[in-house]
Order: sequence, then structure tokens, then C-alpha cells
Amino acid sequence: FTTIYRSFAEQAERRPDKALFELPDGQRITYRETAKTARRIAARLVADGVTPGDRVAMQVEKSPEAIALYLATLRIGGVFLPLNTAYTGAEMDYFIGDARPRVLVCSPDRLADHSHRAEQGLVVETLGTAGDGTLLDGDGRHEEVFDASADDPAAILYTSGTTGRSKGAVLSHGNLASNCRALLEAWQYTAEDRLIHALPIFHIHGLFVAANMTLTVGASMYYLPKFDVETIVDLLPGATVLMGVPTFYTRLLKNDRLTPEACASMRLFVSGSAPLLASDHQAFEARTGHAILERYGMTETGMNTTNPYTGGPRKPGTVGMPLPGTEIRVADGTTGRPLPDGEVGSIEVRGPNVFTGYWQLPEKTAAEFREDGFFITGDLGRIDEDGYLCIVGRGKDLVISGGYNIYPKEIEELLDAHPTVLESAVIGVPHPDFGETVVAVVVPAPDQHPQEAALLDFVAKDLARFKHPRAMRVVDALPRNVMGKVQKAELRKRYADLFA
Ligand code: ATP
Ligand code: MG
Repeated sequence: FTTIYRSFAEQAERRPDKALFELPDGQRITYRETAKTARRIAARLVADGVTPGDRVAMQVEKSPEAIALYLATLRIGGVFLPLNTAYTGAEMDYFIGDARPRVLVCSPDRLADHSHRAEQGLVVETLGTAGDGTLLDGDGRHEEVFDASADDPAAILYTSGTTGRSKGAVLSHGNLASNCRALLEAWQYTAEDRLIHALPIFHIHGLFVAANMTLTVGASMYYLPKFDVETIVDLLPGATVLMGVPTFYTRLLKNDRLTPEACASMRLFVSGSAPLLASDHQAFEARTGHAILERYGMTETGMNTTNPYTGGPRKPGTVGMPLPGTEIRVADGTTGRPLPDGEVGSIEVRGPNVFTGYWQLPEKTAAEFREDGFFITGDLGRIDEDGYLCIVGRGKDLVISGGYNIYPKEIEELLDAHPTVLESAVIGVPHPDFGETVVAVVVPAPDQHPQEAALLDFVAKDLARFKHPRAMRVVDALPRNVMGKVQKAELRKRYADLFA
């Protein structure tokens, strides 16, 4: 068993002068420098009192040193806890109160916000994006690498909070390492690769997929503070892989410089974290010759399924097949009994990638696992005729109207196919007769003006009556979080009184 940290350390020995990070200003940060910074930060954390199992929280802008902090935490057996940079006072109170870290690393300009925490016994360090911050002050050396076993906790990542309050998922060294290995194999990712990294590093996608794969295999990454479409198009000709959320691709498609020539050195475009529109998948292939590879994962499990890199088509609207070592089943939500292929049910997963439990929520953890060890993802899906998993939606988004189950995605796909519609979200809102009824929220395509009557007619012909939207609202944009996830809870709140 080799941990993420040890795989990185091996790469740093093997190719010390290779660039791990290539920054927008042209600066290169090598494997050797990163290993050195990680060692220095490790010494600082130990001096701050971090012992194995202690949480090290980080809320900072993206920098190479932030990744070094992650590696340093793993090196000393700490538990890494990255937090969304958008969280403000009350949210931070919740996360800090819940996770009780030993150290909080924050941006220098936020130090004042956290000074009261220092009084409560938390060590507050700072880390900026220009090689500044107290975290880098020390010049101590740290020699001994913590001998982590597969079951030891490596990180707590909070879920995105799409369906309710964010929960802390405790991920072990074994979870991270096994998932990373499975992805390297599935996507044939090697030291030859040069990744465009434009994702945040406080989520599984940017940290445990993109960064872990790169730094354990000896590859390089263009490391960008955020997604900027012009920058990405500029970098494509020197890169091999892009990992993104669906909005990356929606925005790239709007750029005229996205051509087959611009993508000549690229071998793989990955999408995940939220559903990719089938129409974007098709448009991207038509424009560039590349079929986007969509995969499916979540905070609690890392990656579960992927469309094939080789050996089969990448099917739009599907998330592919289980990664090596991972089992997926679609089951009856109440009994957990597996359903025949083709039927919609609860997506459940078992394997070395599945987390050990929610932080300090034993009852919640117990409720989300079946007796045979399968984790109940909360997503609904079906297995298609070729064995590919299709996600139909989230269990919590299911609309139950007059006793009938309605899957919003089915209606969204019909709406999205209309020329006046760019995208849509279908929600259930309270209704005095039906319990809930369907409301369609649509974003117009450029220069279009969707008309309620015409649009409802258009979808009605393909839908049973009980699925017909009872109202439509046109909005400029759907509310999304940083990972591109549509915040349906917010929409449900906004339109709660339409029929009440
Ligand atoms: P919370 O659990 O707090 O409500 P969340 O589920 O959005 O938030 P994450 O763990 O970041 O938090 O996201 C995982 C979810 O993202 C999955 O359960 C699934 O619903 C969705 N998802 C991820 N990849 C895809 C994909 N390719 N297609 C559709 N949905 C996806
Ligand atoms: Mg979730």
C-alpha cells in the first residue's frame, strides 16, 4: 500500500527538476521545490502542535503552497480540511465548530476575521498567493514521514450542500490512493501529461482527481487561479488534458477560437461534478473532434464511474461504467434489492473508494449504508442496454405529484431541446391538490424569448399529463454554486408560493 504522499515523494526523487506547476506568469515550480516547501510547512505544523489525526483547516486562494500544505498535512498524519473560499463568518463558525481543527490556515487579508478563534485555542496561520504568510515563516525541518495505514483518515471534505447542510466526509489514505490509481489506469494518465488545472482545490474534483493524479504520476499542470475561457484557449495547444465542470464546456463552446487546430495536442477532455448537457457533448465533438469523457463521483466516494477512454463509445447523457475495483448497483430505494437493468432506482456503490463515514454523525452514516456495505448515494439512475449508468436525478429532487413519481431530468431534456431554450431546471412546488406540482424554470437561448404556451405545448406531446409543468418562469441564469451545480433548493424556495 502506497499513500498519495509517498507516491508524490517518489516522483520528487525521480524527477526533481520537472515542473509540477506552471503558473500564468510563466513561473515553473518543480517537484523538488514543492517537496521542500511541504517539508518546511510540515515542520511548522508540528511546531503548532499538530499530531496524527488532528485536523488542519485551510481557507485560502489557490497557490502552489496550498498544495504543499496539503502534502505537508498528509506527511505528518494530519487530516486535511480544505474549505470553500466563499464561506463567510457564520459558515466558517459552523465548519470550525464542527471539525475542531488544531490549525486554521487563512488568507492574510482575513486574519482579523479569525483573531477571536486564536483566543479559543486554535492556531491561526496565514498563506497568501505571492509566497507570503506566516505558514512559510519557519525554517524548521521535518524528517519523519507518518507511516499511514490504509484506514487512517487523510482528509475531511464537506459535501457541497446542494441538498442540505454540508456534511463532513472522512476519507482515508486508502480511499484517496485507490481512487487515484483507478483513475490513472482508466484514463491512461502518465508523466507525459500536461493538465490544465482551472478548478478550485477545496473539492474532490480539483484536489483528489486533478491534483492527486498529476502529483503522484510525475505529470505537470498549468495551474490557474480560476476558469477564464481566453486563458484556457491560449493554453490548449501546449496541453494534453482538461478536467472541468460542465460550465467550462458551455463557455468554451461560445468561443470562436475553439477549433480542432487549437486542440491538436489534447488527448482528453473530462467533465463531471454535475450533468453535462447531451447537446454540449455533441456540439463539442462536432467542433473539436473530441468526445468529452463524462464521469461520476461525489465527496463521499471519490470517483465511481467513467465513460471509456478506449474500448467503447463515450455516450452522451451517461456516466459510463464502474472504475476498476468499484461496484455499482441500482436498487429499490426502500429494500436495497437490486433492480433489473433499465429500471430507475437508487444508485449504490461499494469499493475501496467509499468513505469511512460522516464526521461525528454516526447515525447519519449508518442510515446511508446497506447491511452488505453498499453506500446509498442519494442519486437515482438506471443501467442502460450497454451497461452504462445514466443518472436520472437526485432522490431529493424527485417530484411526487398526486402520488406519481416525476423525474425532473426527463422534462428538462425536452425543454432544452427547444430552440428558444438554453437550459432549464424543473422543480416541484407545493400544490393544494397534488401535494406537489411541476414548475419549469428556463433560461433563454441567445436573443430568444421563450413563450410559455408554445413551450408547454412542445413538451406536453411527449409527456404523460401528470408530468406537464403547471407554470413556467423565464430567468437570466440558474442559481449555481462554484462547482456549477444548480441550486434547486433555492429555486424551490423562490417559487414555493406559486400555488400555495
Ligand atoms: P450535498 O451532498 O451536500 O447535498 P452534493 O451532493 O452536491 O451536496 P458533492 O459531493 O460535491 O456534493 O456532489 C456529488 C453529486 O454531484 C453527486 O451525488 C451527483 O448528484 C452530482 N454529480 C457528480 N457528477 C455528476 C455527473 N457526471 N452527472 C450528474 N451528476 C453528477
Ligand atoms: Mg451529496
